[in-house]
Amino acid sequence: MVTGGAGFIGSHLIDRLVAEGDTVLVFDNLSSGQTSFIEHHLNSGAAEHIQGDLRNFEDVLSAMGQGVDRVIHLAANPDIRLGTRVTDTDLQQGTVSTYNVLEAMRRHDVKKIAFASSSVVYGEDAPLPTPENHGPCLPISLYGASKQAGEGLISSWVGTFGFQAWIFRFANIIGARGTHGVIFDFIHKLKKDSTRLEVLGNGLQEKSYMEVGDCVDAIVHVMKTTDDSLNLYNLGSHDTASVRRIAEIVVEVTGCNDARIEYTGGDRGWAGDVPRARLAIDKMLESGFDVSMNSEDAIRHTAEVLLKEIGLEE
Ligand code: NAD
Repeated sequence: MVTGGAGFIGSHLIDRLVAEGDTVLVFDNLSSGQTSFIEHHLNSGAAEHIQGDLRNFEDVLSAMGQGVDRVIHLAANPDIRLGTRVTDTDLQQGTVSTYNVLEAMRRHDVKKIAFASSSVVYGEDAPLPTPENHGPCLPISLYGASKQAGEGLISSWVGTFGFQAWIFRFANIIGARGTHGVIFDFIHKLKKDSTRLEVLGNGLQEKSYMEVGDCVDAIVHVMKTTDDSLNLYNLGSHDTASVRRIAEIVVEVTGCNDARIEYTGGDRGWAGDVPRARLAIDKMLESGFDVSMNSEDAIRHTAEVLLKEIGLEE
């Protein structure tokens, strides 16, 4: 089962799993995912979609009974900013949903789970690049808190019920079929008004970006090559890029060369945003996996593919 399998990362992961010969049960309420992303697999019979909501335990319990042998749990609210307005969003979509997945697994004796966590669990005072054994982890967003809670629940299901788990702390994942994030936002802003590009913050936020194909290849690779009861991996690229640089690349790729780049000011995009993030990826490299693109290549590639998907014409 892939929860959130109709979403951005999930649909790429399903491409890989199906290529490996797996049959995938997609559990997704389509709140930000789209069946068009996985239609080819639904038509071929390699994937089946259950439109259920993880917040509803009975939905999850009945889906889990359909011959599932392992779960890759990706579904979550992808919008960190939403948590500042509707403060139980991440509690429900993250923490409670992860509990429902684990408990449904326990009742059906499904014991392997992989989880999409995030670099934001490290908060803003961690050393950079941040290794997996950094602690204490003190997230500064409600989204980050729900990821940390999800990790804690998973580790407790490992310790108490003999589960095996893979926890992946992702950098910023970007690429085709992206439906949110900085590059997606910039292209939409330029589509509305090609003469100016508003950038949240001072543009000096500096983060690591990983292309989605690399991300899903890394997940599949690490799950195949590691076998501890709890396997914790940062997944990211080797370097970082500033939001300023992303704005320049998007302006260049879209050909909106006259656009004025305007900064709203302040050191971060929104309350709870971590201005600088870079993951130590030594553990991922030692597992035998390396990325095919660094941050800037991934950003340029993503700007090109999203421009084709979104288009600049109204
Ligand atoms: P996404 O929004 O494209 O995917 C999330 C999917 O989950 C969507 O298809 C959505 O419809 C589904 N979903 C959401 N709430 C649900 C619910 N209650 N019940 C059933 N389905 C539900 O986002 P994504 O970027 O593909 O993110 C996938 C995972 O990776 C998330 O857990 C996210 O927090 C994590 N992550 C993403 C990034 C990134 O840069 N994209 C970085 C770190 C972590």
